[in-house]
Amino acid sequence: MSRSSGPEVVVWDTTYACPLRCSHCYSESGRRPSRQLGPADMLRVADALVALGPRVVALSGGEPLVVRGVFEVAERLRAGGVKLSINTSGWVMSRALAERLADRFDEVIVSLDGATPEVHDRIRGRKGSFDRVLATLALLDEVAGERSAAGRGRLRFGIDCVVIRSNFPQLKAFAADIAHRFPHLTTLGFNAAVPEGLASRLEFYAHELLDDDQVTELTSETLRSRLRTLAPPTVSVYTTDNMNLVMNPERVARRVDTLVMQVEPDGLVRGIPVYEGTVGSLLEEPGTVLWERTLARLEDPFVVETLSSVHSMETWAEAVRRMDRHFGTAEDLARFDRRSVRTNPPEFITPARAIAQSAPGRRSA
Ligand code: SF4
Repeated sequence: MSRSSGPEVVVWDTTYACPLRCSHCYSESGRRPSRQLGPADMLRVADALVALGPRVVALSGGEPLVVRGVFEVAERLRAGGVKLSINTSGWVMSRALAERLADRFDEVIVSLDGATPEVHDRIRGRKGSFDRVLATLALLDEVAGERSAAGRGRLRFGIDCVVIRSNFPQLKAFAADIAHRFPHLTTLGFNAAVPEGLASRLEFYAHELLDDDQVTELTSETLRSRLRTLAPPTVSVYTTDNMNLVMNPERVARRVDTLVMQVEPDGLVRGIPVYEGTVGSLLEEPGTVLWERTLARLEDPFVVETLSSVHSMETWAEAVRRMDRHFGTAEDLARFDRRSVRTNPPEFITPARAIAQSAPGRRSA
């Protein structure tokens, strides 16, 4: 596929509702209106994506498993020949849900941000989330084992850890302990936190975003080899600094990085993933037209100048704040301004408060 015809990968944040309150949340989910579409409009967005012909669509959020109609959307995308993955926090799971995931998705990625309840629950902002996500992984493992034994195809499921300073000392425990608890686990990924959304805040950079030495260590062959030695041989272990998401103009010109389309819950398409600002809606215009606008935005002089200055996590976080203020709507700017008055680090929340704050159309306090 040529770049002008469409993206190779689409990430669709299907909702901004989420039962958790992670300190690094890229989408600020659970603290803003969900902007979730109804089932019929979601299918229209799915059709528009199929028409664009990406190789992979990743359903994300917020928590996509709270979205009504998400499995029908998955069926529509699969019928259109798209490979499908889903990212979940693992808070919501049952045996029946695990079976449905295995039927409709090529890969299920579960977020785990700590190797102990203390670290994971603090990062995720909700007590009990470590136990819930481990129970989810156990269910997926059970289903994967049964399917494999019955010759019904392999359920690929993986653990994804957003690496920040709080969990950096635990990476070996993920490989040496957690990964061994699930014999059918396929991947274990360690991704340096991207300074996007709540992770772009100055205070997050000061306390949690990896420093340059940690980023270098995370992506070193020494650490990778050590993690691979500690993990079961059947698990594919990888680490990344995520710097390919900067969209560095020089790399874009050399076509080094895969271009990704990011879709917001209501069908609006981001100008450039990671950065705020949209270029139109898949419910109103053809995806090819919106994709052309993405390619044009990458050549915008402000974008080229801002993203050319990125050479570290600190300068990336600065560039994100600049891009967000430049391309964000008045509503976005008001949301950024409210961030600084929120509790940080996050306090634990009660289930009732989480549900109330995730309700569509309701603003967080
Ligand atoms: S699980 Fe955490 S990071 Fe993911 S959407 Fe919810 S609050 Fe954000």
